[in-house]
Amino acid sequence: MKDDCPWFLGYSGGKDSSALLKLVIIALSELTSYHKEITVIYCDTGVENPVITDYVYQTFENLKSECLKLCLPIKYKIAVPKLDDRFFVKVIGRGYPTPTNIFRWCTDKMRINPVKQIIDVHPKATVLLGIRNGESKQRDRTISKHSKSEYYLSQSGSKRNQIFSPIINHSIKDIWSTLKFNNFPKSIDSQKLGELYKDAGSECPVYRELPGKSCGSSRFGCWTCTVVRKDKSISKMIENGYSQLTYLHEFRNWIAEFRDNTEYRCAQRRNGQIGLGPITLEGRKVILDKLLDVELKSGIALLQKEELIRIKELWQSDLKNPNYIEKTAHSRVVKVKTHPKPPI
Ligand code: SF4
Repeated sequence: MKDDCPWFLGYSGGKDSSALLKLVIIALSELTSYHKEITVIYCDTGVENPVITDYVYQTFENLKSECLKLCLPIKYKIAVPKLDDRFFVKVIGRGYPTPTNIFRWCTDKMRINPVKQIIDVHPKATVLLGIRNGESKQRDRTISKHSKSEYYLSQSGSKRNQIFSPIINHSIKDIWSTLKFNNFPKSIDSQKLGELYKDAGSECPVYRELPGKSCGSSRFGCWTCTVVRKDKSISKMIENGYSQLTYLHEFRNWIAEFRDNTEYRCAQRRNGQIGLGPITLEGRKVILDKLLDVELKSGIALLQKEELIRIKELWQSDLKNPNYIEKTAHSRVVKVKTHPKPPI
């Protein structure tokens, strides 16, 4: 009520951001006039767990019509990473090894930046996040480091916006109570969420990356995530009947090992340094073939046409680049069929 600065609510589909959204909608419905626009943002990296993506898109559709009926000033937006920052463009197109704890190139590029791009054009925006104290000690330290004197407010990393964390002191029990015992809005279905959540871990960050447990252990993260050693979350879903995820799970396990296969890694980095470099063109083609096969078997669209076109362009650009050395750690020259001459 104090001002007309816009609010942006980071939504991942997980329990914390769902509880936050529910509370915001309840609070709004009790007002008689509105002073600010509220936008709920979900980031679709393109490699989200497909079951969760379907749930979120459906929830968004239902919420839109529920809020429209009540004339609540809420918009729903889907953020997507730039084409060159998408998971398969990076891995298959550029030859990035899939992310690890040491080389975690993904979260900023695929999750944080697309959301920031929408929010940061509004210098006075307030970002609402479903972060909570007590998730991990390291997280707590980061939260208190950024805290401003006002209890629920903190500063964004860029200092452009302020972050409002209304559920910072909620326990996990509070979260589930909020979801379960408020019948409004109906579109956030606590039963469905509870089913999806069985044994799931934390949520992936949507605006600011907080150190701590990788979001890859979460059901609300990427199905391709190789930051965690084992994706127990997806195996549990398969056990619970989501059999279409089996091929995706096998692919994830396969690529986690393939990443370290030195036969398919250049012995030189792109900056010329000697050391494990990009995945070779031959390796990238192996990954692409395998992915297209998974797509066929699972019946789930996994690679967009524009991504495939970009991948092929990036292959061509490596082939034409005299500084790109296709020598592997096994000291053999890799011949790529698509190239008229050997790459070296
Ligand atoms: S889920 Fe894994 S791959 Fe996806 S952004 Fe998080 S750490 Fe990276």
